Amino acid sequence: MFFFIAGVQPKTKVLDPNPRLCPVCGLNRAKLKRIDHYLSVFFIPLFRIKKGEPMLVCDICGPVGAEVGPGGREVAPEPEVGTGELCPMCKAQVEPHFRFCPYCGQRL
Ligand SMILES: [Zn+2]
Ligand SMILES: [Zn+2]
Repeated sequence: MFFFIAGVQPKTKVLDPNPRLCPVCGLNRAKLKRIDHYLSVFFIPLFRIKKGEPMLVCDICGPVGAEVGPGGREVAPEPEVGTGELCPMCKAQVEPHFRFCPYCGQRL
């Protein structure tokens, strides 16, 4: 029997071993890391299929966001929140004046 086990495995790469200040807990425990995704066969990473974004990972808090270098980078804006309301049934966004959801017919 031959089992072909292939999959995608994340691999964490430490870009900068020097600890930095964690913006969440304020301790000097955050390191700049990058999580790359590798295609692996038999759990052996063969090649990189996705290069991760550098991010700060705190020993205590976990991932605490993208690298904030000198000059700083603005925090990514919140995903756009529509002005409409959400249908309680299907969570589709509907205009506030709608009385019925156009997607599932739920009375609003
Ligand atoms: Zn922290
Ligand atoms: Zn709906």
